[in-house]
Amino acid sequence: MYCFQCGREYVAEVSECVECGVELVDEKPTPPEEVGGENEPQVAYELFEWSFEARRMVDQLLTGEGIAHGWQGAVLIVREADEDRADALIEQAETAEGPRLDPDIDKVAYGMEEWSAEAQSALVDALGLAGVAHEFDADGDLVVAEEDEERVDEIVEQVARRIAIEDELGEAGTELEGLALSDLIGEVHGLARKLDRNPGDAKSTLAMVKQAGTLADVRTPFGFDSERWAAIRQSSSAMVGILSTEDRDEDDVRGAASALHEQLAGVI
Ligand SMILES: [Zn+2]
Repeated sequence: MYCFQCGREYVAEVSECVECGVELVDEKPTPPEEVGGENEPQVAYELFEWSFEARRMVDQLLTGEGIAHGWQGAVLIVREADEDRADALIEQAETAEGPRLDPDIDKVAYGMEEWSAEAQSALVDALGLAGVAHEFDADGDLVVAEEDEERVDEIVEQVARRIAIEDELGEAGTELEGLALSDLIGEVHGLARKLDRNPGDAKSTLAMVKQAGTLADVRTPFGFDSERWAAIRQSSSAMVGILSTEDRDEDDVRGAASALHEQLAGVI
């Protein structure tokens, strides 16, 4: 048995991945880089807000249709040639009927006045994927079971935060991808390490101001988690700010460099 998300292999008696908490599948997962032939274009679907069950459902639907696919964490990779078929299966998983709200239990309502239609539909998708029963009342308020309140609070906050980030960063910034993006990330990562060791290094300082400045302006690349990317942009811009201060403190440089180094290590 395998975990489709992290690829770990288990003996047949195990039903869940200890690492991911996701139910195992029978088929050995394909590493994302091996989906399709060499140089064959791929598409990525960010399924961060989906529950494990929903991701597993998509995985199994794709397997059932014989569509090559792989996972990079919560990001699903398929061949571009399979995009339409994958879209249809993802939609099928998305609209799979969620649980009904029991009429006899205590409920809480959430005002939706400040939510755009688009934001509401993102929220509904997120609730459905998390398996939370919900409906809208005559006033347009979102109604859920009181026992789900904490969970719903979390989901509401997540969706609101994601939308705020998309609004803020979505249109701004330069688009960069592929080799140019990985080169830039690699360079800033290397410079961060140098500055962490030797915060007074003039050559690295100059290079970092330029490269981190560029990175701070890159909009969320395809297949990256938008919150994580926003944090990288913030750290890059903080780095530039610190390095541009004339009488900067070496500890500040070191702190900013090690934070950036660590964040970038997570996406290399
Ligand atoms: Zn796993």
